[in-house]
Amino acid sequence: MLTALLAVFSFVMIALVLKPLFSKTYVPFDPRSEKEVELERLVIKKNKLYGDIKDLDLEYRMGKMNDVDYHALRKQSLAEVSAVMKKLDALGHEVHGNGKVTDQHREQLIRSIRRVIEVEKETTGQICAICNHQNEASSRFCAQCGSKLNDDQS
Ligand SMILES: [Zn+2]
Repeated sequence: MLTALLAVFSFVMIALVLKPLFSKTYVPFDPRSEKEVELERLVIKKNKLYGDIKDLDLEYRMGKMNDVDYHALRKQSLAEVSAVMKKLDALGHEVHGNGKVTDQHREQLIRSIRRVIEVEKETTGQICAICNHQNEASSRFCAQCGSKLNDDQS
């Protein structure tokens, strides 16, 4: 009985270990955990960069570094930090859904708002100021009386 159990157990273990080697598209058991690992890596990187900047400031204040080098290095480090922060924001939203609006989300929102405005215009059309005929939004002259329509109603 025990040997049978042991055999089944070891078979399962071997299958689990070998599975990723045989499946072409290896999907981790929990896709979130991989992102969380990446998130942690980014946090560590961010902290390290902040530490670098602190060191840089310290060395500069101690007179170990000239102005040109200091400003160039500091600028570079800050650019790296902001790149990491952007990734963190995006990933943090994906992993934790913390409601932070990323640039991508903002763009999506603007696009959908624009679309709504366009659809509204299309369905509302243009009302002729002379005869009140409702014309298509794209027409420049009234289909009823032929007077010029205002493209810009505001
Ligand atoms: Zn008209």
